[in-house]
Amino acid sequence: MKCKLCLQERKICKSHIIPEFLYKQGYDENGQMYVLKKANFKPKNLQHNQDVYEKLLCAECDGKLLNEKYEKYFHKLWYLDKTLPTITTSAFLEIPNLDYAPFKLFHLSILWRASISSLAPFAMVSLGDEQEERIRQMLLNGDPGQPNDYQIFGALFLSRGTNKVLDGFIAAPTRQEYQGLQIYQFIFGGCAWHYVIGDQSIEDFLPVSLSASGSLRLRVRDIGNLASINRFFIEDVSQMHFPIKRKSK
Ligand SMILES: [Zn+2]
Repeated sequence: MKCKLCLQERKICKSHIIPEFLYKQGYDENGQMYVLKKANFKPKNLQHNQDVYEKLLCAECDGKLLNEKYEKYFHKLWYLDKTLPTITTSAFLEIPNLDYAPFKLFHLSILWRASISSLAPFAMVSLGDEQEERIRQMLLNGDPGQPNDYQIFGALFLSRGTNKVLDGFIAAPTRQEYQGLQIYQFIFGGCAWHYVIGDQSIEDFLPVSLSASGSLRLRVRDIGNLASINRFFIEDVSQMHFPIKRKSK
């Protein structure tokens, strides 16, 4: 069988679409994982072993590449180094010193795996051959591209009516359109992550997007306010008073 990443004929192992460490806080007392449907937050139990694995990649690509190079970076940053707080009263979480390449490629690896996956929770994610191939090469070559390639921005979630960061929720990804561009929303690691498909960035979201220097500004939101991207960000961005650079015509 051909590995979907290196395209070599190799023994294919079972891969996670969303890395396992992100699920660990989402298990209930029976060891089952909660997967939330879209934004309505009615948890739907999925059998862990049935639904989150798929035979996609060879052991080399799954373990040595995606895990060693990208997932371990995010795991250390987010959980071991406690970049993800447990409590916050700020309106934004400022992360000034990310390592741009592994942070970006970690996110792209999830987006790409979700797109090539045939599992039901990822049914909404379909990037098409051209984008899938572009990201495949970026992952394989360790090339994170420019910030406008698959612009990334996100929001940190708090449990309803509290200052406690809500980690452990994994939601089925959704797709939205904004200014003619496709945006996918994934929920994991205490955040809703947004990925703009293609090489055009949305200027309105630049102040909160991952920059080439490795800074990211996550809006902190109450989970009760999870809604479409328009409500999610437009109000916030309009209240931020950042100088947003416009392209000169
Ligand atoms: Zn491979």
